[in-house]
Amino acid sequence: MHELALMAELRHLAEEAASREGASRIHRLQLRIGSLSGVDADALRSAFAVVMADREPGDGSGSIDTQGSTLELEVVRTVCFCADCQQEFAPSDVIHACPRCGALSTQVLRGRELELVALEVS
Ligand SMILES: [Zn+2]
Repeated sequence: MHELALMAELRHLAEEAASREGASRIHRLQLRIGSLSGVDADALRSAFAVVMADREPGDGSGSIDTQGSTLELEVVRTVCFCADCQQEFAPSDVIHACPRCGALSTQVLRGRELELVALEVS
């Protein structure tokens, strides 16, 4: 379960950020995930529920309350760039062929994101 490990890491990062701000509670995490990031949104939601409900984090830093925190996911669709047409396009499948000229694009502009965009603590 790749998503569980990822979520545990995110919880750790969020707890560190909360500690730095002198906060004791995590309310909301907002993540941006690209459709090419290899992360499944549903699996991530399940992992979030499991990880945040655990009162005893592995690293022993149990000072931050994560109970009742929520997860917001922003899913970014894949966008490629065709150098021949100088145009962006959204590929319809895993083969990134330009819909105008049919050339295979090697430039992925969006879709690989995996980032924490917002964190709400108090
Ligand atoms: Zn093209």
